Amino acid sequence: MTGEEGGPPANRPAIRVGIGYDSHRLVPGRLLILGGQRIPSDLGLEGHSDADAVAHALTDAILGAAGSGDIGKLFPDSHPQWKDADSIGLLRTACEIVRGRGFRPVQADVTVIAEQPRIGPHAPAMIATLSAATGIDPSALSIKGKTNEGMGFIGRGEGVAVIAVATVEAF
Ligand code: MG
Repeated sequence: MTGEEGGPPANRPAIRVGIGYDSHRLVPGRLLILGGQRIPSDLGLEGHSDADAVAHALTDAILGAAGSGDIGKLFPDSHPQWKDADSIGLLRTACEIVRGRGFRPVQADVTVIAEQPRIGPHAPAMIATLSAATGIDPSALSIKGKTNEGMGFIGRGEGVAVIAVATVEAF
């Protein structure tokens, strides 16, 4: 799975960066949950879990930084245990796994790409929730919203995508 199976090598870098990406389809009859916040919307994100694409992308960024696999391997969407799962809980579990391998999440930058809704007003609450789940200081957590200028599946309002970068440090 990774180059660090059986324990990290002695010469591992002290600071490591990971990237995560996620997208989910917008559909009627689902809650819109992003960064652990329930956001008022006529459409919500479709998925096996609560489909919180912010939590999923950040989880993959942190796991990737630590060389600890990915969200699909840890929490397979074929498994009934993760049906409608609280993705902030999955993020918290992933951070515990990363800490167990000697890495502490210290910083993250997240971009949400969606035509609707506006992300900015919800960013402070998302940051507070993600900080509590990851142990990252709120001052080192950034969440930005972008539209896709009307282009493609995001522009047509069919879905939402999220890109996250995270830094972990060895301790
Ligand atoms: Mg996802």
